[in-house]
Amino acid sequence: MNYVDKINCNFGDRLANTYSTYNKELEVKAEEYGLKLLHTKVRHLGTLKTEEILLNMYNYLKDKVEIIFDTEVINIISKGKENDSFTVETQNRTYYSNKLILATGISSSNWTKEQCTSLDIKVREQGAAIGLRLEVPASIFKKVIDSTYEAKFSYRTEKTKDFIITYCMNPWGRVITKHTNGMIMVDGQNYLESNEPTNNINFTLFVSDYFKSEDNIIYSKEFADSVIKVVNSTGGGVLVQRFGDMIKGKVTSYNEINNNTTKPTLDATPFDLNLVIPKRLLNDIIEMIYVLDKMVKGIADENTLVYAAETKYYNPLVQVNENLETKVKDLYMAGDCSGITHSLSQAAASGIYVGKNIGING
Ligand SMILES: Cc1cc2nc3c(=O)[nH]c(=O)nc-3n(C[C@H](O)[C@H](O)[C@H](O)COP(=O)(O)OP(=O)(O)OC[C@H]3O[C@@H](n4cnc5c(N)ncnc54)[C@H](O)[C@@H]3O)c2cc1C
Repeated sequence: MNYVDKINCNFGDRLANTYSTYNKELEVKAEEYGLKLLHTKVRHLGTLKTEEILLNMYNYLKDKVEIIFDTEVINIISKGKENDSFTVETQNRTYYSNKLILATGISSSNWTKEQCTSLDIKVREQGAAIGLRLEVPASIFKKVIDSTYEAKFSYRTEKTKDFIITYCMNPWGRVITKHTNGMIMVDGQNYLESNEPTNNINFTLFVSDYFKSEDNIIYSKEFADSVIKVVNSTGGGVLVQRFGDMIKGKVTSYNEINNNTTKPTLDATPFDLNLVIPKRLLNDIIEMIYVLDKMVKGIADENTLVYAAETKYYNPLVQVNENLETKVKDLYMAGDCSGITHSLSQAAASGIYVGKNIGING
């Protein structure tokens, strides 16, 4: 991770400082309420800086390696004998290679699964997470964000034992929408992305253990998508509700949103989430909100805004060895398509790891 960070810093000018989410006092307090505080070191890159870094990387690499854009790989054919080459068929041309690294991310997870199956490589489904994003005044989080900027809490619910985690905390940031695979989801934007910080903090509560057995995990992605589609077809996009109304099972009106003490940073459609979000998911999230309220007084306030919805998928886990090599010799998996990594820095680290293992020096 440090190496990945060093590379990003080399290719990006004046990146934001790193911060640690380690806070012993908070950790002890969290444990009293059954919450776990996760420790991470974070450097926020942001969309604009990421573009700059990628462009600088491209300019550095373009005379050293051949980079081919806008070319879909249709099919991979295994080597006949050890010294043969893999055949990589694209829509334009066929390529041959002795070693092959698949780094196809999560967007073509079905394609990756098909390729693995045809190459007789085992894959295991991993499921999906569904989340709702909360927006509250940043001032109530002062003690937490003063020392750590953000906090990652996890919790297992009393009744269902579902696993919930706080995700993507944006102090003084905005709630935004993201468009993925034809669906509109809620997301959060860091305050550094815009010149004007807000008075709010937003973060998602992800229920990531909603599907537990191998049988229902298979349908989890379809289920998560169906929740987003119901939300989208109800409100034309993202829905929002005051927490007080969510508890009462009452539709929040536009008037109530306008008069809410926590002012929304996203123009979402007010509604009653009880009508569109599955009961168990909603109950899990309500339980977590009350537990978090013991740590950070004010989260369970009736003016807290709850936005729906967001999903997170995990690629099927591809069977690889400690070098990230599949059972097909010289075929490696890097990044999220392996089902092992779930973020930019993890994906980058796995790419470097594979590169070093096969003898590419950076
Ligand atoms: C909306 C959104 C927000 C996110 N925010 C964050 C964040 O804030 N922080 C964070 O750490 N992570 C974030 N992530 C996750 C992060 O984007 C991924 O973890 C990361 O991009 C994985 O990198 P990768 O190289 O494995 O795959 P990708 O970045 O997905 O790259 C895979 C590439 O392979 C191409 N490809 C796929 N199949 C084929 C094919 N058959 N032929 C040719 N090309 C193909 C794809 O088009 C893609 O360009 C976010 C993801 C999304 C969707």
